[in-house]
This record gives sequence, C-alpha cells and structure tokens, in this order.
Amino acid sequence: MCRHFIIPDSLRATKNTVYCIKCDHCDWKDMSVDTNNYDQWLNRACEQCGHNLLTEHDYKFVKLLEKLSGVINVIWLPVMLLRSFTKLVLGVSAPKVTFNEYEVKMDGVSQPKMVLKK
Ligand SMILES: [Zn+2]
Repeated sequence: MCRHFIIPDSLRATKNTVYCIKCDHCDWKDMSVDTNNYDQWLNRACEQCGHNLLTEHDYKFVKLLEKLSGVINVIWLPVMLLRSFTKLVLGVSAPKVTFNEYEVKMDGVSQPKMVLKK
C-alpha cells in the first residue's frame, strides 16, 4: 500500500487505534500509549513484574491490522466520496453505513482474538 496516500479521517471507513498497553501477567497498564509510539514498547519489560509487554509477534500483528485498515479504506474510498458529494453538493444524506467495532486482545503467546465491542 502506498504510504504517501493519506485519506482524511472524514473519508475513512475504518480506523485502527492502539489506545493502551498492559501486562498480561500483572495489573500494570499505561493508557497513554497510542499508535504513534507503540514501537517503543517492543520487548520492553513490565515495570512491576518484568514480563515482556509487547512481543515481536504481537507487534507485527498490530502492523498487519494497520495495513489491512489502509486497504479497507482505499476500497471504500469511492463510497465515502460519493456520500460526501451527495451531502455537500446535493444536500442529501446517504443512508448511514455502520461498522462494528472490535477490540483485539493479545497476550504474546496465543493467537490474537478479535472481540466485538458492545
Ligand atoms: Zn507485569
């Protein structure tokens, strides 16, 4: 996927957000972590118990999800542009398209699990 092709948030069908990092062995977590600094946590030890907070496997999976999200946004771009056009130019709101929101749970050992958010 072309890294220089940036789609504005208003035209994105999906959004991939890392919003925290937590230890799988104790209750330590940092809610200030986001997508932009996630790589800084790779193979870093938990401050409380020393367990690896982000394995290479889980980090690669997060990067894969980011790429997948980019592909989905490119595929949906014509639909999102048409929706914006009909609203801005014609003044007609197209039927709302809703997407389910999933939370990805990773523990560094087993396969990541995608859980539907309620
Ligand atoms: Zn820990």
